[in-house]
Amino acid sequence: MATQNFRFRIYPSHKQINKLNKTISNCCFIYNKLLEVKVNAYKKDKTNLSQFDLNKLTKDFNVPIHSQVLQNISKRINDAFNHFFRRVKEKKGKAGFPRFKTLNKYKSITFPQSGFKLLSNKKLSVSKIGNMPIVLHRVPKGKMKTFTIKRTAIGWFAIFSCQDVPIEKIEIKDNHIGIDIGIESFAVLSNGTKIENPKFLRKSEKKIFKLQRRLSRKKKGSANRKKERFKIAKLHERIFNQRQNFLHKTSFEIIKQFKIISVEKLNIRNMVKNHHLAKSINDASWGCFLQMLSYKVERTGGQLVRVNPKNTSRTCSRCGNIQDMPLSKRQFKCLSCGFVCHRDLNASINIDTAGQAEISNACGDTVRPSSEKARVVEAGTTYEPALP
Ligand SMILES: [Zn+2]
Repeated sequence: MATQNFRFRIYPSHKQINKLNKTISNCCFIYNKLLEVKVNAYKKDKTNLSQFDLNKLTKDFNVPIHSQVLQNISKRINDAFNHFFRRVKEKKGKAGFPRFKTLNKYKSITFPQSGFKLLSNKKLSVSKIGNMPIVLHRVPKGKMKTFTIKRTAIGWFAIFSCQDVPIEKIEIKDNHIGIDIGIESFAVLSNGTKIENPKFLRKSEKKIFKLQRRLSRKKKGSANRKKERFKIAKLHERIFNQRQNFLHKTSFEIIKQFKIISVEKLNIRNMVKNHHLAKSINDASWGCFLQMLSYKVERTGGQLVRVNPKNTSRTCSRCGNIQDMPLSKRQFKCLSCGFVCHRDLNASINIDTAGQAEISNACGDTVRPSSEKARVVEAGTTYEPALP
């Protein structure tokens, strides 16, 4: 069982769009007001207003908004503070105290339990807004928990967050693979397969670079600048969708074929700082890709193994000799045994070997862990490639 979001395009009428925009801007206003009240109460005498306290305050606003939507606003504030405290505890990067939101940042309303209904596979009913067409390209599964209407650069969307979604199992053979992030390509598999970055993505990325330059030449505050900004936002959203689509398809292809998938344990945060553009985009997608692999792999009962990245590209995958490999060198030529191989392929073979070693170590004495988190095996800090 899992939690899953189902997202569908909706087509509200002009009148409904006005209503939705009005509701969102009212919610944004209330969000900022409640945040102010909460912060001031704490500043005054350290009173910590709970979600329940804030909920009671929402009744003071005389607005035609569904009560559940109003209550969700205090939940959002509560969540913002919880995330803030978590980040303070983790001490990772900026903690980011909850901020007031502009209408550019506040884009959605959420119904926690009721106030919405699917009338058919073409019609959606939303309380205080009306009935509107929906494109139900798939059937949401599990128990509907919340319902969100979101405004994006492209249009309007309905998002159903469902719980207890059954996971469909896939039967596959016991086999294994190592994956390395490519420098020229998206990834290289230890069986020699190269996964290229899709062409359309590179094209769109070039286009966005051009648009951004054009925007910088437009006068600040002008109507033309606004138009240009909207164009960029639209393209960004399209690129994001295209990339997600590519990552979903690619990760599913891999889990369908391989049960034990080994990857490098990487610090994504450090990698994005890399100045090489294509590489940094790859790195950002990589984190998302690993996340997809780690939950999709549950469908086959397999495992995602994260191995220590130390020396994976410097070690000969045939004899274990370690030698210097500057980034400019594309071919791995072993100085000891003469083995010649593409550098990324050599690395992915090492990753696969390390992952298998990790699995056999972990399985030697204990039963396989069954909890969701334990399924991602973290490798130790010592790394010794297996000798042929
Ligand atoms: Zn060698």
